Amino acid sequence: MSGEPSWVVHKFGGSSVADASCFLRVAGIIQARSGERSAIVLSACRGVTDALYELVALAQERADIEPAIGAIRKRHTEIAEALLSAEQAARYADQLDNDLRDIRGVQHTIQLTRTASATVRDLVAGYGEIWSSRLLAFYLREQARPGDAVKWIDAREVIVIEHGPLGPIVDWTRSREGMAAAIDAGAETLLVITGFIASDQKGAQTTLGRNGSDFSASIFGSLLGASEICIWTDVDGVLSADPRRVPGASVIDSLSYNEAMELAYFGAKVIHPQTMGPAVDAGIPIRILNTFAPEGRGTLICADPKSDLAVKGITSIEHVAMIDLEGAGMIGVPGTAHRLFGALREADVSVILISQGSSEHSICCAVPAAQVDRAAEVVRDAFDRELRNGQIQDVAIDRDLAILAIVGDGMAGTPCIAAKLFAAFGRAGVNVRAIAQGASERNISAVVDAASATRALRAAHASFYLSPHTLSIGVIGPGSVGGALLNQLASQAERLEREFNLNFRVRGIASSKRMALFDRGADLADWRAAVESAAQPVDIEQFLDHVRADHLPHSVIIDCSASEDVARRYADFFERGIHVVTANKKAHSAEFAYFRQMADARRSTGAHYLYETTVGAGLPVVRTARELRETGDEIKSIEGIFSGTLAYLFNVYNGETPFSAVVRDARERGYTEPDPRDDLSGLDVARKLIILSREMGLKLELADVEIESLVPKPLQGASPDEFLARLPEYDAEMKQRFDAAYARGKVLRYVGRVTASGEASVGVVELDRQASLANTALTDNIVRYTTRRYSANPLIVQGPGAGPEVTAGGVFADLLRLASYLGARI
Ligand code: ADP
Ligand code: ASP
Ligand code: MG
Repeated sequence: MSGEPSWVVHKFGGSSVADASCFLRVAGIIQARSGERSAIVLSACRGVTDALYELVALAQERADIEPAIGAIRKRHTEIAEALLSAEQAARYADQLDNDLRDIRGVQHTIQLTRTASATVRDLVAGYGEIWSSRLLAFYLREQARPGDAVKWIDAREVIVIEHGPLGPIVDWTRSREGMAAAIDAGAETLLVITGFIASDQKGAQTTLGRNGSDFSASIFGSLLGASEICIWTDVDGVLSADPRRVPGASVIDSLSYNEAMELAYFGAKVIHPQTMGPAVDAGIPIRILNTFAPEGRGTLICADPKSDLAVKGITSIEHVAMIDLEGAGMIGVPGTAHRLFGALREADVSVILISQGSSEHSICCAVPAAQVDRAAEVVRDAFDRELRNGQIQDVAIDRDLAILAIVGDGMAGTPCIAAKLFAAFGRAGVNVRAIAQGASERNISAVVDAASATRALRAAHASFYLSPHTLSIGVIGPGSVGGALLNQLASQAERLEREFNLNFRVRGIASSKRMALFDRGADLADWRAAVESAAQPVDIEQFLDHVRADHLPHSVIIDCSASEDVARRYADFFERGIHVVTANKKAHSAEFAYFRQMADARRSTGAHYLYETTVGAGLPVVRTARELRETGDEIKSIEGIFSGTLAYLFNVYNGETPFSAVVRDARERGYTEPDPRDDLSGLDVARKLIILSREMGLKLELADVEIESLVPKPLQGASPDEFLARLPEYDAEMKQRFDAAYARGKVLRYVGRVTASGEASVGVVELDRQASLANTALTDNIVRYTTRRYSANPLIVQGPGAGPEVTAGGVFADLLRLASYLGARI
């Protein structure tokens, strides 16, 4: 055949021939190929093989099979009528009816005997490929250009196999003879071949197993000496994970035969595991392509792929159970494994994974769930004596498991792959039951609970395929601070992505009433409209589930609310591995037991917690305390003005304008909370003091803080209006304090102070006029750290300590700090 263009085998799966328009698409793909001779291997139309197996099952139950046969007939004749001339369509229907008559005959026997042997089942199931390929051959013949020779080949006349314990074994000598007889050397330019079916040694029809058309394609590739085998399907190639389970799975450029085989064995259904054999032996590259997007490059599977990815794909096997043989009697005794697997082999149980600790104290193996009871029974029999005399304690069964495998040739010699996988599992809260790694290091498998399999897949996928700096963000409290933060994110997101590869996806925004959830991340330019139009009532559970998307590597809740309820959930967030960035003081100033609970939860999952803005907004107040202590300094006391509102009130109050008027004016300027008592009560300052005391290593509770409230007792229960109306009644008292201080050359300031010995107080104090705390501007905060290192001349942090923009900026800085903890280089 020298001088002739080489053969290329094109296999189209069931999804590629689902209806008439699919057939047209297939024909179009083939007609566009030039410079090759095409051999098309076709699957049955989508769902037809299943329907045929179902037919046999119906017959066994003696149910009426006519409706099912009618449906199968209709499916094919409709496509034929759409594609073929009336004359050809009628011819096609005749042949179909002949086949259906044969099938009815077989079904009749099944109905009578109520049994169907594998041979009979295969005989019926194999018709799907005959009908689909015959239909395509009819169509291509009608469309053929003069000189084109389209030949339909029934694979039963070519491929001869024998069923072995590891699957079908091809009789290459007889198959080659069959091939030679089927084509007139060099005459054909286009072959249309049935997939899936073959003959056994005795000449009876058989199949290559479910999804076997891939294997057919590879066998024909070898028989024809093809230069390439194209497997056309409904996805863009072999994906890094099953796209139905892992959103964001991406096409793998190239795979080695071994990698593809490993992925296929471990459930990447896109290609049948046996496909590789004939192609490898003949060195034929395989390409996986998308019938519905034929221009794509697909995935190339060959001997020596060019790729520097260590992990190529992640896949899973479902419906697995584990048998665990445990006992001190096995230590150092040779032959236990041999007896175990010997027993399983006798019972025809296939072992998917084996794991044995080097202590030899236990061996466990994973088997298909459907076989586990039988497996346990034969193992118990085999070790009956040892079980009775206690050398083996138990043969335990563990059900409802799945196996997850990461596959890639490049894993060999790349350190840290396993660490990365198990770290991802840890973060996602996936419990690993057993682990196996082959000596080839091409595959690391982990047995996990079936219920966490998808989560495990997504977590593993995210850690190997996504930028580790992809952060799923949920913002709680889109009010003044939260709103400013979202605007700041909107203006910086593009730059952060470009410069630092940071991918911030705001996947949820929740106010106290409603929440907006976004699949791909909110369009930040438009976040306000999205929140305003959100109709979903807020449901924190659902919000968390959405934000903690398993397919993204990290999630963070940014709490810009002042909600106690939300603060009480942090420990739960941490337990789920969700990081928290917060401007809300309520969690960190809650009782010490909760503070400890949060710390424990964080330790168990490695979740991060950033709360710099809870004291002094954007000023580095918390961080300074922490760093002093962490670097070995001793903090003797921290004191300062921690409330912008109270700073303002005492900066402005000069003993002339009544204090109540200053409060009223501050409220009108927006310097106080809507109810000024929230500021005047001192509670907020006390909370900040608690936060700092915890930074100093103290175990103070809010109740330990001596608080001087500026809300007169009788007005504590009043309405906000009444409070403002009656506040002047107390002006005289404040004036008296002011004048007394003034006479001593001092001024009044509202100061918080905590010392190393655990004294904590907030309230009005008299300060020298020159004191640093007495000389701040407007709403500035000021914090003074007296430490061993900074003793004579304390360290001071001062500046604007409130306001939405600076607070949001501080939260944003915490978010960036989080990203850098997670590995981003900022
Ligand atoms: P065909 O009918 O073409 O033989 P299949 O349904 O047998 O197609 O196989 C293709 C399907 O395999 C895809 O639609 C996809 O849902 C599934 N699949 C599972 N794992 C993977 C993977 N790793 N890459 C691509 N597809 C996968
Ligand atoms: N039609 C067969 C099946 O559904 C073979 C195949 O499509 O590959 O299993
Ligand atoms: Mg398939």
